[in-house]
Amino acid sequence: ALHNRIQELRGNIRVFVRTRPFLPNDGAASNSSIDIMPDGESLAIQGKHAGEGHGFKFDKVFAPSAGQGVVFDEVSEFVQSALDGYNVCLFSYGQTGSGKTHTMQGSGNGAMRGIIPRAVEQILQQAALMQSQRWKFTMKASFLEIYNEDLRDLLVMMNSDGSFKQRNTSSANKISIKRNQEGKSYVDGINKVVIDVEDKAAGLAQLEAVMVAAARARSVATTKMNAQSSRSHSVFMLHLCGSNEESGTIVEGALNLCDLAGSERLDRSGAGSDHKRLKETQAINKSLSSLGDVFTSLANGSKHIPFRNSKLTYLLQDCLSGDGKALMFVNLSPTIESSNESLCSLRFAQRVN
Ligand code: ADP
Ligand code: MG
Repeated sequence: ALHNRIQELRGNIRVFVRTRPFLPNDGAASNSSIDIMPDGESLAIQGKHAGEGHGFKFDKVFAPSAGQGVVFDEVSEFVQSALDGYNVCLFSYGQTGSGKTHTMQGSGNGAMRGIIPRAVEQILQQAALMQSQRWKFTMKASFLEIYNEDLRDLLVMMNSDGSFKQRNTSSANKISIKRNQEGKSYVDGINKVVIDVEDKAAGLAQLEAVMVAAARARSVATTKMNAQSSRSHSVFMLHLCGSNEESGTIVEGALNLCDLAGSERLDRSGAGSDHKRLKETQAINKSLSSLGDVFTSLANGSKHIPFRNSKLTYLLQDCLSGDGKALMFVNLSPTIESSNESLCSLRFAQRVN
């Protein structure tokens, strides 16, 4: 009860900061602009001018050496909450190249796997354990993209059993965000692919197929529209339903894993004179700035929370309010050149509290 009370007082949005290590492409590795404090919750960022520094404190601050497993250990309780019937959302926020996709998706089948595959694996393991208490789970995956405030289903090419459609039915199904009788948001018309909970190997293979299909759909669409995927938000959704064969109890939860569009501002994205790019940047900023406005309103205890101002916030409102749970990763690049963007990202995240 005390734990719940603390949770209530602190609101239901957490912020973790993850700074990526230096990469060969960063040029001659120099000093990091980010200083992480030994308490694991604070950091200092060096300003552009010598002697200029800013301190921040969040729920957790990872060192650049923190690997995918260490990071996942800190989010696994959120994944468990989705199994327990909560609406849970994890975001990754930051400038392009700061490690958002690495954090959410990662790469390969080994140590570099990110939160998506690890979360699915944890759910499969946990569901198997809970079978002994007569719990039966079903899991379905959806994957959508928000681009210029338009929604796109990234799994249109798949059948609900995880197989691929014979022909690419290019008639992209119209999907839209609606609210059901209980006032909960859902995506009408979106494809849901079943992930087999009984058979772990089959379930992981289905996830793999989902990831391949989504990546393909994304790259086809971005090429066709001459756009960059860094300009869109992607949301991987797991719909979980558990029923207890003994008590008849039914729990429904959702886990949303969002890889947000790059947060870099207009001046750095080269959008200046290009009309299409400008419109795009404004639309991206609409979802991101609406997210910031929602954070501020929630933190102020406002009566009216402007969820409806963007697709992203409308879609995720159940996670951001009520008994929902949300966690935002702020991904940072360690380079001095990025320190201005990093500072913006940290200030954005500060609006949560
Ligand atoms: P974003 O999605 O924010 O644009 P990426 O996730 O694509 O950024 O990361 C940019 C590059 O940095 C990629 O090559 C990625 O593999 C690498 N990277 C990001 N974070 C880490 C990390 N924690 N450890 C090692 N490499 C990383
Ligand atoms: Mg990315």
